[in-house]
Amino acid sequence: MQGNQDILKTPIEYLKGVGPKKGEALKNELGIFCFEDLLQHYPFRYVDKTQLYSIRQLSPDTPEVQLKGKLTSVRVMGEGRGRRLTATLTDGTGRLELIWFKGIGYLQKYLKTGSQYLVYGKPSFKYRLSISHPEMELVTTEQEISFESRLEPIYSTTEKLKGKGLDSKGIHRLIKTLFERLKPRDLPENLPASIIEKHELLGRWEAVKNIHLPDKDSLIPRAQFRLKFDEFFFIQLRLVKTKIARHRRLIGFEFPALGTIFHDFYENKLPFELTNAQKRVLKEIRRDTMTGQQMNRLLQGDVGSGKTVVALMTMLMALDCDFQACMMAPTEILAQQHYESLTNMLEGMEVRVDLLTGSIKGRKRKDVLEKLLLGMTDILIGTHALIEDTVVFKNLGMVVVDEQHRFGVAQRAKLWQKNVKPPHVLVMTATPIPRTLAMTVYGDLDVSVIDELPPGRKPIKTFHYHENKRLKVFSFLKEEIQKGRQVYVVYPLINESETLNYKDLMDGHESFSRAFPPPDYQISLLHGQMHTIDKDFEMQRFKDGETNIMLATTVIEVGVNVPNASVMIIESAERFGLAQLHQLRGRVGRGGEQSYCILMTSNKLSNDGKVRMQTMVDTTDGFKISEVDMKLRGPGDMQGTQQSGVLNLRIADIVKDNKILQLARQTAAELLQDDADLSKTENYRLRHYLENNKHKMESEWSRIS
Ligand code: ADP
Ligand code: MG
Repeated sequence: MQGNQDILKTPIEYLKGVGPKKGEALKNELGIFCFEDLLQHYPFRYVDKTQLYSIRQLSPDTPEVQLKGKLTSVRVMGEGRGRRLTATLTDGTGRLELIWFKGIGYLQKYLKTGSQYLVYGKPSFKYRLSISHPEMELVTTEQEISFESRLEPIYSTTEKLKGKGLDSKGIHRLIKTLFERLKPRDLPENLPASIIEKHELLGRWEAVKNIHLPDKDSLIPRAQFRLKFDEFFFIQLRLVKTKIARHRRLIGFEFPALGTIFHDFYENKLPFELTNAQKRVLKEIRRDTMTGQQMNRLLQGDVGSGKTVVALMTMLMALDCDFQACMMAPTEILAQQHYESLTNMLEGMEVRVDLLTGSIKGRKRKDVLEKLLLGMTDILIGTHALIEDTVVFKNLGMVVVDEQHRFGVAQRAKLWQKNVKPPHVLVMTATPIPRTLAMTVYGDLDVSVIDELPPGRKPIKTFHYHENKRLKVFSFLKEEIQKGRQVYVVYPLINESETLNYKDLMDGHESFSRAFPPPDYQISLLHGQMHTIDKDFEMQRFKDGETNIMLATTVIEVGVNVPNASVMIIESAERFGLAQLHQLRGRVGRGGEQSYCILMTSNKLSNDGKVRMQTMVDTTDGFKISEVDMKLRGPGDMQGTQQSGVLNLRIADIVKDNKILQLARQTAAELLQDDADLSKTENYRLRHYLENNKHKMESEWSRIS
């Protein structure tokens, strides 16, 4: 028998000590709706309760500490945003200031001058040594508290919850209360015995119990290992299962042979020799499309590695077998540009290419849709507009997604439905992502990599300057412009404030206009608020070489191609993430000339900021850059992954727990190889667990491919 699963689904307000008000707060603040959610609110670290520091020992470099002392004063200071509560703690060795900016009302009631407190927090130095937002526990009696384990779990919480008594200790108390009601059978084992034995895992109950209420300190790492393994394992099981199912069941169109269109292009139109990597990828795609199964392939390649021509030739494979193809780009500018470059490359061939974006309306749109339906269009390029139901193909066989933001399952499924069988799908990443991340986020896709740049490229030289070098930078620009080159200057987009963006750009425009006056110099200006027509006009002037300098916000980030532009200046570069910096830099270095990227920053940089600038100066390899990016920001913030529930990991960390991830993936793959439907008796626990948690997993997965 399975255990009583229902108790875990009990709404959180029914736990003793919670009730409606705290229940509401737990839901809103931490997403804890039921007992199970509380159990999965794992501690993020442990503190040694037996270790007490004295104030004299502290310095700004001291890590998180526990102190014990008496409060000698508690008072509210400042007004408005500067309003804060400060308290002074003494322990016989010194005095320490404690500061809070939030939860002041609650703390004023809770903190009593003259009482003893246990204080946890991280010392820092602002004018004097202090701790901001320490956790406080009133010491009621002088006797020693008895310790079951030396280590006490610390839980993440919020100021609101603290105001309701649910600081880390409060949450720990709730978990203790919950465990008084739970029995091992409420958390039945969900992994097959063979896996537990092979990897010497703790049992599920033991792991969950010990992560919260450790019997022995030595069990904590084992509990963490087991739960991290679980987390990765079930994600991977699902991904690998989808992949196997697709390989097995998803009938797709068979492209029996390459034909005249492909060959004509390859022999007569292709303006360069393909790199070995491009050839390899095309072979992989060719192999996929011969099998009669649907292709779902991810193409990873650095900026400028030549993904577009691979996409084009992939679409030609479809055309040769009397299918249509489409290519979806993340922005209008990009779609337009793909349209132009494909039309160019195909000149003189009888391939009919059309464009559909949001700004193509009325009569024109009707026309595009009609030709598509009649089969008078072979390749349709466009934006998200392609997904709409009104876009109907006569016979769609190949979809290329040139992607910046990832599309959710629902969106991709819509593309699948655009023919009687699902068309083949090639997804191209705009920036490479580390292998480990790809494995998790795109784990159900087959992956191809272009790991080689076209020959003859001169690596872009990158420099980092502070504002005081601006004149030097300007005179360098004049030299480059003198040689006939063009320059991009990019300003950051600040999400919070459109007006601020605009101001930065306009200030920049003024200073550039002064340094580069007409008629000797011409400047283009491009930003998000401009109408498409005006944007196109400015872009075109720059492309045609009528202007020397293009000042822009990040609208030019993706894909813009002006080979004569040889300098990219990134203003306030510290405000950009690595992926974006790399993308922006990729706008130059497209012609035969030596290109430059200049990162302008203020003098004060955070440590992360310094690492980012240095990484850009040191390397142009997008794969290396994305590794650094992932380490700095954590995978959840990487471009294109924010939406993916895969990364809502509760305990595991893709970077730090990479080995466990590999192990989990391998274990899942081996298991499914042996028993793809999980129908063998020894796998019944897995099957049950998946069935019982189907709903939960699906909601977390709905956005993922
Ligand atoms: P991305 O992978 O960033 O989309 P593109 O497809 O835009 O890169 O290619 C960048 C540039 O390199 C284009 O100008 C393209 O024509 C050129 N290119 C692509 N493949 C080759 C090749 N094998 N040899 C020379 N140039 C190439
Ligand atoms: Mg591209």
